[in-house]
Amino acid sequence: MTARTDAVDLFVIGGGVNGCGIARDAAGRGLRVRLAEMGDLAQATSSASTKLFHGGLRYLEYLEINLVREALSEREVLIRAMPHISWPMRFVLPYSANMRFESDTPVSKMLSTVMPWMKGKRPSWMIRSGLFLYDHLGGQHLLPGTKRLDLRGSPEGAPLKDEFVHAFEYSDGWVQDARLVVLNARDAEARGADIRVRTKVIEARRDGGHWIVTTEGPNGREEHLARAVVNAGGPWVEQILKGTMGSASREHVRLVRGSHIVTRKLYDHDKCYFFQGSDGRIIFAIPYEQDFTLIGTTEAAHEGSPLTAECTEEERDYLCDFTSQYFKEEVTADDVVWTYSGVRPLYEDGASSATAATREYVLSLDAPAGQPAALHVFGGKITTYRRLAEDALAKLRPHLPGMGGPWTKDAHLPGGDFAPEEVGAKIAKLSQDYPFVDRKWAERMIRHYGTEAWAILGAAKTRDDLGRDFGATLTEAELRWLVDKEWARKVEDVIWRRTKLGLRLDADQVNSVSAWLEEHAG
Ligand SMILES: Cc1cc2nc3c(=O)[nH]c(=O)nc-3n(C[C@H](O)[C@H](O)[C@H](O)COP(=O)(O)OP(=O)(O)OC[C@H]3O[C@@H](n4cnc5c(N)ncnc54)[C@H](O)[C@@H]3O)c2cc1C
Repeated sequence: MTARTDAVDLFVIGGGVNGCGIARDAAGRGLRVRLAEMGDLAQATSSASTKLFHGGLRYLEYLEINLVREALSEREVLIRAMPHISWPMRFVLPYSANMRFESDTPVSKMLSTVMPWMKGKRPSWMIRSGLFLYDHLGGQHLLPGTKRLDLRGSPEGAPLKDEFVHAFEYSDGWVQDARLVVLNARDAEARGADIRVRTKVIEARRDGGHWIVTTEGPNGREEHLARAVVNAGGPWVEQILKGTMGSASREHVRLVRGSHIVTRKLYDHDKCYFFQGSDGRIIFAIPYEQDFTLIGTTEAAHEGSPLTAECTEEERDYLCDFTSQYFKEEVTADDVVWTYSGVRPLYEDGASSATAATREYVLSLDAPAGQPAALHVFGGKITTYRRLAEDALAKLRPHLPGMGGPWTKDAHLPGGDFAPEEVGAKIAKLSQDYPFVDRKWAERMIRHYGTEAWAILGAAKTRDDLGRDFGATLTEAELRWLVDKEWARKVEDVIWRRTKLGLRLDADQVNSVSAWLEEHAG
């Protein structure tokens, strides 16, 4: 039997960064919101990104000035809203006159006309001008500006081959992507939204002035009446649009797979590297989870279900070889401890290469006269999720009159109610209040939960007061929090999305977490 739930204003399909961001914004405007995610929050693209709040330095090559400007100013808005899970990072771009850039960008084409001898290369003055523009386009207060580096004898030069003598250093932001999603969902819930995980939307159809959305989940089959529907299915957006919602739209999404590898820590400082490859592509090497280095990404057309995306051996070797062109010590498959892969849902715009396809989002409104509206979300970036949510609600406003105005620009996410400069003090205070929590543990807690770390550790006086110890500082108290407050149900939710403790726990420890969840998370 199909149960009927109470009616809502907005039904959101998909619990990635865009679905959760829209649900949060809408709930804060006073709308009654329900969100259904077929698996775990952030189970798809939103946990598989490079995790950068970035202006998109490489989009300058495409002269996408507006896209870059908007993303640049948004970086600081986001870091202030979530100073626990995001922070500024410095990027070192080693310069070599032989570096090759993509040949089909507008900048490349212009250069080959006026300086034909450059053939895909870039003079140093041009990179410096690009970075100068990057510093000044979006207005920068939190993030330090660009500088030139002499790599000889410097910590940044130490791991690099001797041929790299100069570099440029610039700023971008870093974010724990899967935590960004779950904190948006928590804030949405705190503002009245109904968040349902492991609940798949199997059909949505118009019925008079309403949508009837059918879901299958822990409560069985249910029907939900809604005044409007947002399709934030990411890589599934087209499938939901044409299959689940039965639209005859001709819009397409192009799926582009990107893979990352995580290696043992390859160098000792806390800056990232921006490497330009001989094939015109770029990759990043980023300090990761205190003891590791994250390297990515690849780009390849993806066939099949987005959930089957995996880093292939070729992609792994490509990333190792690419990095080895820069580092003195060769990076090999033996250094790789983990890989992950995700699928970008790009709006099909006829661009020929995967790299050139636009990263800007497209919000497609389907609202025939007198019928309830649907909004389909194509593309977007982690960096643009908040603005995307604002734009989505602006499009829906005529169909959901009475909603409040934009409010998220100055609002922090749960646990992020402090200034970015105070993060060191918060880590020190946590260790001081709980003397059995050492610095590394305290840092992990603040970087995951911010000021909510105190709620998790509660009145504990000793480590034993936190219940069972699962290893790598994961205690029963934290697991309970993840189940009660963050919708964690399965071991992957805990070790690869709410935390990255999968990098540290051994097989027996993972099994104990799994068994505990089976007993306590239903
Ligand atoms: C390799 C890579 C690197 C990237 N790096 C960056 C970066 O550094 N910075 C940046 O800003 N952006 C980056 N991005 C882009 C960014 O990650 C994505 O644009 C963003 O995560 C898309 O989020 P989404 O919510 O649209 O999709 P998703 O996160 O995929 O969410 C869609 C959700 O919908 C759910 N769903 C699907 N069908 C149904 C259904 N029928 N019922 C219920 N739920 C359903 C899915 O389970 C999924 O969880 C990167 C992307 C990739 C692939």
